[in-house]
Amino acid sequence: MLVVMEQGATEPQIQHIIDRLVSMGFTVHRSTGVTHTLLGGVGPVADFDPADFEVMEGVKECHRIVSPYKLASRHFRPDGTVVKIGDVEIGDGKVVVMAGPCSVENVDQIGQIAEIVAGGGAKVIRGGAFKPRTSPYSFQGLGEDGLKMMREAASRNGLLVISEVMDQTQIPMMCDYVDILQVGARNMQNYNLLRQLGETRKPVLVKRGISATIEELLLSAEYVMAGGNYDVILCERGIRTFESYTRNTMDISAIPVVKSLSHLPIVADPSHGTGRRDKVIPMARAAVAAGADGLLVEVHQDPDHALSDGAQSLKPAQFEEMMQQIRIIASAVGRTV
Ligand code: PEP
Ligand code: MN
Repeated sequence: MLVVMEQGATEPQIQHIIDRLVSMGFTVHRSTGVTHTLLGGVGPVADFDPADFEVMEGVKECHRIVSPYKLASRHFRPDGTVVKIGDVEIGDGKVVVMAGPCSVENVDQIGQIAEIVAGGGAKVIRGGAFKPRTSPYSFQGLGEDGLKMMREAASRNGLLVISEVMDQTQIPMMCDYVDILQVGARNMQNYNLLRQLGETRKPVLVKRGISATIEELLLSAEYVMAGGNYDVILCERGIRTFESYTRNTMDISAIPVVKSLSHLPIVADPSHGTGRRDKVIPMARAAVAAGADGLLVEVHQDPDHALSDGAQSLKPAQFEEMMQQIRIIASAVGRTV
């Protein structure tokens, strides 16, 4: 359920409602907006009457939320969530570009790519240190050494760091190196991992699973938020369909759908979405036009020799071209990069 407090409701009035909800068995999540405070009550409580709350002092309205996700629902924060990390804000209307290799390979590789993506206007460097490879014989990533290399390259170039966490045991160590913890498509429904990420206070980016519905994606975000970590960013990265020309089918429509169902920022990954570098720029343009809050793209200085996902990695000149083009698209839809 959701209780919307009156504009100017006093702290004692808010506390009274919280106490009442807790006594009924709800877990209360508070969202203090610019004008209104919202109280989300989550729990298996079926027999309550919203009218009981609507007559309480300081309450504007009370609703039963019927969607299976509550905290991820747009009702909980009608104005939208902005995830702030240093001076980078994801969800405030600016398109935030996160770019880098699929995998961190060595010091020179990540150092060069950090310079390239920072020079082009990216705010965040991406790179996997723990890789969820389809084959156990493929390159599995450099682990903590890779994170160290990426953190140093990022710091030299004024970038934030995002990297995939594959297992909950990696969380404490990874928090020393990364600014955003990425949950990969294959782990979108790893509920132990999601719950544990809910206990951290690091932003989490949840990628859509290859066969996940939008509702399932929002429920995965709900797992993280239920632990009290509201800094969740969603990512559309393509889903598996009968089409085999592209690696996945980039579901651009998920962007406006998520925007209406949820307050969480959503970024688009056209690299995994298409699997082909010649299709990345058009899908990046489309994602920005559709309202994506950011892009997650793979860039490599020598993609033909990349240890993973070379075929979908942009060359440096193509990354430049993408940045120029999305600046034009962004301004056409009243946004900036
Ligand atoms: C990645 O970002 O490199 C990755 C493995 O992505 P996904 O989980 O979307 O396949
Ligand atoms: Mn990849």
